[in-house]
Amino acid sequence: MGHFIAYDEKWMNGLYEEMGDGSVYVIIPHEFGHAVQAQLNTTFRLNVEQELQADCYAGGTLGALVKGGSLQTEPGDEDELLINLAAAGDPPTTGCARTPTARRDSARSCFAKGYDQGTTAC
Ligand SMILES: [Zn+2]
Repeated sequence: MGHFIAYDEKWMNGLYEEMGDGSVYVIIPHEFGHAVQAQLNTTFRLNVEQELQADCYAGGTLGALVKGGSLQTEPGDEDELLINLAAAGDPPTTGCARTPTARRDSARSCFAKGYDQGTTAC
């Protein structure tokens, strides 16, 4: 298994243009979260659980970078992160119409949990 994260540069640029750099600061740490899950061979009953843990890891990663001084925040960053987390909801699926809203709300709370308490809380 390779130890890398791949993303589509045009897609990432599009998100950056549309929603600011918060999109990059949500997506890349989220994907690192999936890489950690793969390394730990973590299993999940539901896909949404896997996604929410990755959101928590993303928050923990960003929190550690900010608290450690490696990353400085700017006014408006928090709003951008929340907008991007809100957009991270799963697309509607037949028979599960409430899932996207729950995922958006939970993505925010799981991200905040990781940010405030660190990755060990995930
Ligand atoms: Zn994911």
